[in-house]
Amino acid sequence: MLKIKNISTFYGRIQALRNVSLHIQSGEVVSLIGANGAGKTTLLNTISGILTPGSGEIVFEEQSLKSLSPERIVRLGISQAPEGRQIFAHHTVLENLELGAYLRSRRKDREQRAQDLERICQLFPVLDERKNQFAGTLSGGEQQMLAIGRALMARPKLLLLDEPSMGLAPKLVREIFENIFRLRKEGTTILLVEQNARAALAISDRAYVLENGRLVLQGDARELINDPEVRRAYLGKDYREVWE
Ligand code: ATP
Repeated sequence: MLKIKNISTFYGRIQALRNVSLHIQSGEVVSLIGANGAGKTTLLNTISGILTPGSGEIVFEEQSLKSLSPERIVRLGISQAPEGRQIFAHHTVLENLELGAYLRSRRKDREQRAQDLERICQLFPVLDERKNQFAGTLSGGEQQMLAIGRALMARPKLLLLDEPSMGLAPKLVREIFENIFRLRKEGTTILLVEQNARAALAISDRAYVLENGRLVLQGDARELINDPEVRRAYLGKDYREVWE
């Protein structure tokens, strides 16, 4: 579905990604793990067209994403739930969700939008309960669910999730991962960026490890969980509290 070949991305003279290559097949959940500043968000933003790579190529369903605007990329079927949520605080939960479908705002899409809304409300019942509440008054976990729900409203073929568990209490982390697992079962293709490596690996098919802008390891998620280097560097105390 997605092929990334030798991408390098810069912020001015600072190089944040160095010759990164990866691929995602339809139906897979692939996680990208790495420490703070490794370049994970940069990679997602490069895929979604927010950043332009200095070199390399990204191909989605046989089409090059070169020079395409973020809007065109959403239209092709890639949607991102950004780190830090970035919801519209002064709009209601429902309005935020509807904004996620703004590229499908024609009259004829109305029925499909209503179905999607229903599906998302089933997936995240709390959003249904709080439909008319200002999004800024939701808790951190609820805002995270809203960011994911809003991305799903675009009917993405590929969903990019940036640190969905960031800043959440263990109980909510579990809930978020259970929801991602549910999306996976429904067949949604997901690229998941996470610092909570154990939880991410537990629900992924494959994973890549990014260090200082370079991919240093990749493989089957189950194998990486048992890799001594991954265990030492990334499977810290956090996950044990949540998963054991
Ligand atoms: P975290 O887990 O902390 O979110 P990350 O792996 O997502 O980290 P990035 O946000 O992609 O890392 O940052 C990669 C590198 O690029 C870092 O060294 C960061 O300081 C740098 N960087 C990110 N955004 C900018 C920017 N707008 N201008 C300059 N440098 C930036």
